[in-house]
Amino acid sequence: MISQTRDIVQRSLDALLEDEHFLPELQGKAREQAFTSLTAILSTPNHVHKSYLRVPLQNGRVDRIPAFRVQHNNALGPYKGGIRFHESVNEDEVVNLASLMTLKNALHDVPFGGGKGGIIINPRDYSDKELNLIAKKYVQYFSDVLGPDKDIPAPDMGSGEREMDWMMAEYKSIHPGYPYRGSFTGKSVVNGGSLGRREATGKGVFFTFRYMIHDFIHNHKNLLTKTDNIFAKTALTYEDKPLTIAVQGFGNVGSVAALEAHQSTHLQNKVVAVSDRNVTLRNEDGLDIPALIEFTMRNKGDLPTTEEQLREIDVKAEISDREDVLYLDVDVLILAALEDQIHGDNMEKVKAGILVEGANAPITTEADKFLSDKGVIIVPDILANAGGVIVSYFEWLQGRETQFYSEDEVFRMLYEKMQETLDTVLPQFFGDPFPLRQNCYIHSVTKLSTILYRQGKLY
Ligand code: GLU
Repeated sequence: MISQTRDIVQRSLDALLEDEHFLPELQGKAREQAFTSLTAILSTPNHVHKSYLRVPLQNGRVDRIPAFRVQHNNALGPYKGGIRFHESVNEDEVVNLASLMTLKNALHDVPFGGGKGGIIINPRDYSDKELNLIAKKYVQYFSDVLGPDKDIPAPDMGSGEREMDWMMAEYKSIHPGYPYRGSFTGKSVVNGGSLGRREATGKGVFFTFRYMIHDFIHNHKNLLTKTDNIFAKTALTYEDKPLTIAVQGFGNVGSVAALEAHQSTHLQNKVVAVSDRNVTLRNEDGLDIPALIEFTMRNKGDLPTTEEQLREIDVKAEISDREDVLYLDVDVLILAALEDQIHGDNMEKVKAGILVEGANAPITTEADKFLSDKGVIIVPDILANAGGVIVSYFEWLQGRETQFYSEDEVFRMLYEKMQETLDTVLPQFFGDPFPLRQNCYIHSVTKLSTILYRQGKLY
């Protein structure tokens, strides 16, 4: 997974090196030197901060919890990216996720660099009071390198508005008299968060897929029917057809994407399966997503796992193993759980023709190549799941102006921004022989390289 990002960045740089329209003023030795610098800059983070948070627990134990803040690149603006609270966090993973943030922000023209944080804990093992202390300690240990114009964290897996509120409050106590609203995004609305931030990633995931398969195909029929690009052929088979959708993961991203799909009036589609860490629920006639969301809100985020629980909420579904969601005979599979879910050992069992990455890096390099070669359309994380950071940007702006937008305005601006990106990358994707991930990376790397060159960093 880690080498995947680096490999695609390198391939994108190789393509740019050969492209005579890219920075034509750079020739010969100077061009070679500039590209050597680019490889060095984009393949390594600027800083990796690591601390052991000292946390006295309620049972009398004192834990030293490893925590990271990685600052990958800030050519486009302050570092930006979530803080993951998860037991599988490790340094390499955080570095990779930080570099994905650099690419994601560049792709969508969000004026931020890339960063990421992680705390190695299973939040379910700690009380609220202990989690509050862990969140505050994180800010204390990293307070020198964070700030509204330096590095702005946000929620990620295992963290949400509650943690961001705590962290912003701690930042404010440590830096009295300094601007603090923009120090963290993804805060609750009463605390200066943006309306729509919580739903933004899931809504953006569904919008990306919907815009591509509905609006874009309709408006570019000529382009798609003329080319012999395999992905254009795949896309056309889904046009105007009722689509079946399965969603892996029913957290903040998956549940919202499933609800959007369920309510969408643009497409005739049915959400026929959802899953979480315990189960897959299936119904070929479509699942009652609002009822399932309501259930999860009363049950610590978990989906029903027994017939009895399903009967209680009057939802009809077949219950099966949590992995089953990946192998169903559906048109679309939205991956909104963890990374590395589709890999060498299970890639042959995947039947969906379109995979949408709601989570970061859910498909390994090997599986990505295997599925792309078959003509499966993979909508990559940096394209599909950028709704969160885009609305984080709106939140940061609103915090500066202390002027807040309505929810409708936030979603209108979000879709406008994502559509601009899609209108840039999709014509190339359906024209070129590259998978969409490679296309998006080329776009981001072009932008970053041009900026680094203009900033005089490529000597
Ligand atoms: N953690 C989210 C992501 O991976 C959001 C980051 C942010 O809002 O800064 O994109």
